[in-house]
Formats: sequence, structure tokens, C-alpha cells
Amino acid sequence: MRSTPSSSARHWDSSPAATPVRRSLRIRHGGTSLLTRCGEHSRCRECGNRIEWYHRSDPQMAMVPLHPHELPAARVPADCRWHVSSGIAHPAGDGSGWCRIPHALLCPIRNAPTAAGLGTLRRALAVHTRRLIDAGAFIAPTARPDGAAAESAVCRPARPVVQLLYVRYLAACPVEDIRCVAQTRRRDRCARPLLAPDTPVGTWTLMPATATTGQLALPANIMAVYDLSALPYAVQLRWRAQRCPQHAATPTTPDLTVPGWEPFNPLLHREHIHTRLPTRRRPGPSGHSRKAVGP
Ligand SMILES: [Zn+2]
Ligand SMILES: [Zn+2]
Repeated sequence: MRSTPSSSARHWDSSPAATPVRRSLRIRHGGTSLLTRCGEHSRCRECGNRIEWYHRSDPQMAMVPLHPHELPAARVPADCRWHVSSGIAHPAGDGSGWCRIPHALLCPIRNAPTAAGLGTLRRALAVHTRRLIDAGAFIAPTARPDGAAAESAVCRPARPVVQLLYVRYLAACPVEDIRCVAQTRRRDRCARPLLAPDTPVGTWTLMPATATTGQLALPANIMAVYDLSALPYAVQLRWRAQRCPQHAATPTTPDLTVPGWEPFNPLLHREHIHTRLPTRRRPGPSGHSRKAVGP
């Protein structure tokens, strides 16, 4: 027998009442982020356009910045389509006529090849970047005194490639500037760096320019990677969660923002591939060693 709706689900004239769909907010098991189940609004630090950060559905626990609007799926190549379900980003379409797309495929600053059908949107984002720069609302990375000066003074990459737990990530800022994402008791963001004093440090190493260990690389394609592979597993987990040692010891403390790791892609992040190791001084006539310890 077909169940009859309760009286509260009908109007006075017995017409069915539209019941709003209940969207349950669920917290990821074991997660401490205050930002799960919703896109974290932000702006691309390279072009200034709006992005939304989401947890990925794959087990890398990384975040992916998506273009903030849905696009007609017919305009997006199938292998570029993403969808968001229950606050989690999945790297595939959901069968509907609409889809999401990673900002990296649209970012006008990057040299990534534009997929057919996306050129118009990418040009629109480029125009928006130009307007932001002209209005003084955004400073291009190459024009920032801090990043440019820091990079030239100590020859360090502004966005280094970091290897941890066998995966390579593009960091949002220089290694020594990566801050803890946990919330303090004053409800602001922890100011401590991941590279805390008296903690083990990674090693700058030249490695094949691939996304993960073991992938085939083009001949002579090497890049400087800040390698944390030799560190204890717990320390690598702490880096991936982007927490200082104190907040790594208190896992129930919530995150105030999302970790800034972006899965490294040698095609999308070509401009961040550095073929020389960072040095404190400009290399002298004797050149530099193959490995450099520390940030
Ligand atoms: Zn961008
Ligand atoms: Zn902290």
C-alpha cells in the first residue's frame, strides 16, 4: 500500500505542499576543519580571480580550487569536468548538463593549454585580472616587492614544490612562510610556522619533474623539490595537515582555514618548476652542491 503523506505535508485544500529538501551537514570523519562541506571562498594569488576551495574525493586529502560557477557540460571536455556533491569535489561530471572546473585550467596567468570551448572564459578572467590591477585591487606576483625581492635575495621559489607522503604539492608560499591553519583560543589563526625550531627539516633535492614519485619524466626535466620523505610519518602528516607541532598535538582544535597544498601538475605548474636548488647566496664560480639542507 502506498503511504500517505502526513497532514503537515499538504495545504488546507489537500494540495501537496512543497517540502524543502533537507541538506544534512556532515563533518568528515576525523576531520577538524570548520570549513568542511562548503566551498572556501578565496582569490587566486596569481590572477586575483575568485576561486572556491573544496576537499577532493580522492584519498590525498588535498584541496582543489574550483572556478566558482557551474559551466554547461557541453562546453567542457569530459576529462576536465568536476562536480561537487555533499561539499566534496569529484573529478568527473555527475551526468547533468552542468559541471565545475578547476581554476588551474582557466587561470590566465598560467601557461596551461586552454581546452577547446574554454578560451572565451579564460580571456574574460584575463580581462578581469587587468581591471583588478588597474584599480589597484590586485598586485601581480611579479610586481610584489616581497615575493620578488625574497626570490632574488635568497634564490628561493615563491611557490615551492614539496614532496610528502609520496605526493608532490605546490605550496602557496615559500617553505619558511607556511603557517599553521589551526584556530587559537582567541579565535584567530595560529601564527606559528610549520618549520618550527628544533623540528626536523626537509632537504632541497633535484628530482624528475613529475607529479609523483616514479612517473616517467621527459629527459633533462628536473626540478628543485623540498623533500620531506625522510622525515617520520607523523611529521609528514603534520605538514600535510599544515599544523605547527603544538596544534598537531591537539587534533581536536579546529582549522580556521584550509591547507594551501595544491597537487603539483608539471603541465599546469610549469612556471613553478625551478631547475636549480635554492641558495642563500647567489652561486659563485664554483657553482652549488646538488643537495641543500633546510628551507
Ligand atoms: Zn588564477
Ligand atoms: Zn598552530
